[in-house]
Amino acid sequence: MQHTSCYICKSRRLEKFLDLGTQSPSDAFVREEDAGKAEASYPLALCLCEECGLVQLGFTVDPRELFTEYVYTTGMNNSLRENFTALVEELGTRFALGSTDFVVDIGSNDGTLLKNYGKFGSKVLGIDPSSVAEVAKKEGVPTLREFFNETTALSVLKTYGHARIITATNVFAHVPDLESFMRGIQALLSPDGVFVSESGYLLDMITTGGYDAVYHEHLRYYSLRPMLRLFSDFGFEIFDVRRIPSHSGSIRVSVGHKGAHLVSASVANLVAEEKKAGLEDLKTYTDFGERAHAHMKELQSLLLKLRHSGARIVGIGAPAKGNTLLNSCGITAQTVEALLEKSEYKIGLYAPGSHIPVKNESILFSEQPQYALMLSWNLSEELIPKLRAKEYRGAFIIPFPKIRIE
Ligand SMILES: [Zn+2]
Repeated sequence: MQHTSCYICKSRRLEKFLDLGTQSPSDAFVREEDAGKAEASYPLALCLCEECGLVQLGFTVDPRELFTEYVYTTGMNNSLRENFTALVEELGTRFALGSTDFVVDIGSNDGTLLKNYGKFGSKVLGIDPSSVAEVAKKEGVPTLREFFNETTALSVLKTYGHARIITATNVFAHVPDLESFMRGIQALLSPDGVFVSESGYLLDMITTGGYDAVYHEHLRYYSLRPMLRLFSDFGFEIFDVRRIPSHSGSIRVSVGHKGAHLVSASVANLVAEEKKAGLEDLKTYTDFGERAHAHMKELQSLLLKLRHSGARIVGIGAPAKGNTLLNSCGITAQTVEALLEKSEYKIGLYAPGSHIPVKNESILFSEQPQYALMLSWNLSEELIPKLRAKEYRGAFIIPFPKIRIE
């Protein structure tokens, strides 16, 4: 469905600044038996709302198509796991959580974040529509397999009462019906409660040039300015904001009902920083689009050149954004022979669009392909030493911020 108005301010003054053509949803890994069939694919492009400054996709895919067979599990990623532990520790201490408190995690995935509340004794509930919710349940994390919206919020409220903490990590940018989501938070959050959202941060995407953050599930690319407007429209106030490293650069906002918390200087400071970085100027975005297209050409020609010289190339990891990168650059299994993963959920599947097979990471050490393309490039500092310690001797290709080989 074409999305012709802004998710936040409803303006139709949307300016397209990056067009990635037509792509398959980047988490829709393909099973062996379906590999010969045509895949669904949809337009993928970024627009700027010239009214409120929100960056969003110009096309929305039915969420039931995107989230029900989700193969991503949070628990696999060390940096995210540590981020969640630190986040819950901080929230629990700052808001003196106890056993009478109720906390909710939206988009709870395999329950990784909620497990950290154990020491505070609070009652927890995960809400997640995907099949990964079953993994969480099996591990004893109470989880409701639903999309979060006003209806879900009201039924949770009836059963459990108000939530003192509601977290939504890497999900707030993915919700198609933003209004229903916001009304759900309004209803479920206690008067002194805090809603914490973590989303990929637009300024980091612009700075690193990482257009691979663009995929169909990811509807909005938040900066602080449009978020302030969004929350204010629903009677909320952002009282704290922090930049965090997750997912190549994210923004964590803490939100309460208007007037419930003291607003920290971090909010005005980051608004000023965004303005200084040009986030209010269309040219910043058109430049980003041009840089992205130049990057695609450069990466494609590098990989083709290496492959033609007879080198074997594999991808490290099979993250959603890796699929955007591979498909934007037109890379197939002829060039990158496999994506190597540790996640048992993805091994044996084929990457959407490119149909590059996902194989076990052990191949990297047993077969020593000459080049390893870091698709989770934001985790390079964590991953490369580990892969070297396991005696991979080839070269790493790191695609962002600038393509480099090491
Ligand atoms: Zn707008």
